[in-house]
Order: sequence, then structure tokens, then C-alpha cells
Amino acid sequence: MTEGTSPPIDLARQVRAHLDALRAAGVTFVPRGEPLTIAPAPVAVPEVVAEPAPPPDPLAGRTRELTVLSGEVAGCNRCEGLFSTRTQTVFGVGPIDPDVAFVGEAPGADEDRTGEPFVGKAGQLLTRIINGCGFKREEVYIFNTLKCRPPGNRTPTPDECANCRPFFERQFDLVRPKFVVALGGTAAKSLLNTTTGITRLRGKLYEFRGVPLVCTFHPSALLRDESGAMKRDVWEDMKLLLRTMGREIPTVKKA
Ligand code: SF4
Repeated sequence: MTEGTSPPIDLARQVRAHLDALRAAGVTFVPRGEPLTIAPAPVAVPEVVAEPAPPPDPLAGRTRELTVLSGEVAGCNRCEGLFSTRTQTVFGVGPIDPDVAFVGEAPGADEDRTGEPFVGKAGQLLTRIINGCGFKREEVYIFNTLKCRPPGNRTPTPDECANCRPFFERQFDLVRPKFVVALGGTAAKSLLNTTTGITRLRGKLYEFRGVPLVCTFHPSALLRDESGAMKRDVWEDMKLLLRTMGREIPTVKKA
């Protein structure tokens, strides 16, 4: 034992001595005490921190409106000669707020079958034109002024164009492209509200609803043109588009 420390207490011996003393005094029963209970330590409850709400999606409202509009178009029967012969309406594909949108005239047989614009041979050529400009197809918005296929791919009548115009304008305003390309005479005339042909309209810069507009030949016209002259013209029109957009013009690739 070190100096300054207390000797260990023999508790059992003390208890035994105490009981002997009680027994000697005639005590024969000692009541058991209540067991010692120890209150549990309070459990710390972690503070629940609410997850911050995600920032509102600025495009969500317009995406919803486009879906509603697409549903209206799908149920439209304004043109007797079109709604009764179509397989389905062809609304449009691509992102909202694209740098550029391509507008054609009306769906063809492949588009009527699949529900997507520009998927046939002309569509494949359009994809090559888009890629030649340095875009991916999925980066641009593609749609037609008319949402139903005219039977036999005939030119849409003025009445049919007028019937579908409110759908097209609403769609255009919701998509909000920064630049727009009209493909072919019917689309160009419709957007510019003119009777002038595409040969005279192409090669210049216009505006549609405040958006810079370039008109060029329809890809299906390029497929029919064996001289190659139309392809050169379309490439000149795409260079005008790219210059207006302030984008670099690819040097090699041509449509
Ligand atoms: S072309 Fe347009 S207006 Fe005519 S039936 Fe189709 S969706 Fe309706």
C-alpha cells in the first residue's frame, strides 16, 4: 500500500459482520431492498435537416404545354381529307430552346407510319445536312407546318395550311428556336406568307416571329436533282445560317 492511499474495503466481510451482529441481537429476517435501478441515459435524437427543394425547371411549363398541344393535334379532325386518311399525326422532335429548328412542309409515308418527321430518305439526307453544319440531329428541333400526311404526298391545300397554322405557331412559340430553316417552297412560302418560289427566296436572311430565318431547298428535291447544283445551293444557305449564328463553318463536309 502506498502512503496517502486508503486500504481497500472488504465489503463482504463487513456485511457478514453486520448480519452476525443482527442475528446475535435476535433479528431473524432482513427485508430485501428494492433493486437499484439506473435511469437510461437520454438518447440523442439526430436533428432532421430538410433536403433543399430542387430549383424549379424553367422549361417544365413549356414542356407540359407542348405535350398538351401534341394531344390536341392528335385528336384534330379539322381537315376532312387528311384526318380520315392519316395513320397518325406527326408533331415534331427535338429539345426546347434549340439553337436551330428545321421546318418542312408535311409528313410523308415513312413519317405517317412512324410518327416522326424526316425519317425517310429525305430525312436521312437532312440528318447529313445537320451533321455537316456541325450539329447532332438530337440537338435541333424538326417539325412540319402541317401535321398530317396529304394522301399521295400531294401539296397541301391553302385551307389545310390555314387549318394547321395555329398549331404550328403555338408549337414554334413554345419551342423557341434561336434560328430557323425553312425546307422547301411550301414551308418557306407559309412562313413568309408569300407566293414567291423557293429559288428566289433562298440565299437571303428573313425573320419569322422575330427569329432569323433561312430558306433552302427541301431534301427530297436534292434527291431528285442529278446535277448536284441544288446541293451546292443548300450548302451556301447553310453557310449563311452558320455565319448568322456566329458559328465556325466546317471546311470539308458538304450536304
Ligand atoms: S393537318 Fe393539322 S389542322 Fe388538318 S387535320 Fe391534321 S392536325 Fe388538324
